[in-house]
Amino acid sequence: MKGGFAAGTCLLPDKYQVSSGYNWLMGQHQHVPWYPLIWNRTLLPRHAFIGWLIVQGRLMTRDKLFKFGITTDQACAICFSQNENHQHLFSDCTYSTLCWDLLNEWLGLSIPKTRVVDWYITWRCPSLMKKQIVGAAIVALWYHIWHARNIARIEARVLAPRYILRQVKQDIQGRCQERKWTLKLTKLPWEPVYV
Ligand SMILES: [Zn+2]
Repeated sequence: MKGGFAAGTCLLPDKYQVSSGYNWLMGQHQHVPWYPLIWNRTLLPRHAFIGWLIVQGRLMTRDKLFKFGITTDQACAICFSQNENHQHLFSDCTYSTLCWDLLNEWLGLSIPKTRVVDWYITWRCPSLMKKQIVGAAIVALWYHIWHARNIARIEARVLAPRYILRQVKQDIQGRCQERKWTLKLTKLPWEPVYV
């Protein structure tokens, strides 16, 4: 790598450094606004993966399946009142609204479901731990809404929003325990992991 770095067209420092070589090797990357929300160590990997697809609008929602000719039905599998796309499924759907209301009630926050990423990256939270837990809860909710959508589509039944929130709480609580945050959380005035 050192040879390639030295032969490159970049401005060479006086002395080769591993960090300089690494940065040269990785190249320039665009900064994405959703980075703090998705690359959060408190997220479960399966949540992070679905969240990563959601922020990029890459889940195979029915509007996409329709465009590809895979389905003729674009209706939301949960409410049937609108076409299913990312905006509808995770924000506008009455089902999602109920789920968001429960999440906000639990967290004691007013997260706007229509601009979650903007809210999160500008939210000034004095505790990094709290911010990571809230971020993990947001992405967990997305994950479970997507799961509920799949259940509705495959099994023709709709999971209760309170069940969704219970799943979110269990996931967050388990992740906090893995990070050994349980004891610390009991000392905070804000106690989000109590189910
Ligand atoms: Zn819907």
